[in-house]
Amino acid sequence: MNRIDFVTALMPARKRIALVAHDHCKARLLDWADRQKAKLANHQLLATGTTGLLLGRRLSLPVECMISGPLGGDQQIGARIAERRIDMLVFFWDPFEPQPHDPDVKALLRVAAVWNIPLAANESSADYLLSSPMLDEAHALSIPDYDTYLAGRKTET
Ligand code: PGA
Repeated sequence: MNRIDFVTALMPARKRIALVAHDHCKARLLDWADRQKAKLANHQLLATGTTGLLLGRRLSLPVECMISGPLGGDQQIGARIAERRIDMLVFFWDPFEPQPHDPDVKALLRVAAVWNIPLAANESSADYLLSSPMLDEAHALSIPDYDTYLAGRKTET
């Protein structure tokens, strides 16, 4: 693969925040989200199936639900990150249990790193993200320069 350059893109003030929690981490994510409800309410929330169902009930906020993680929901979230339709990921993955969909978990973490989106894997990092002054502001971020990469690839073939 060719070297990837980076360009500056704009992160919107109203973030599209994806939330995912493995089964043993769901209670912790729900408690965290409840505590941070006032901040989360200013943004657009989406989640994998079961996490989203539980969050919607607990917060009484709209949450767009993908299908359940083990059935492909992690991949749906990953695809949206690659399409630049998600700005932040809160993913409480279980460090103690292997998951049947471990390859999807790894892929989701990878694509979040590729597209340089803020990612929290536990409660304290999620608190840091939500307390950032950048949360409610539009700001620049660096993303892979796919257009230039594509143009270079076309001239090579
Ligand atoms: P779930 O998926 O929210 O549907 O349980 C989470 C996951 O395991 O990826």
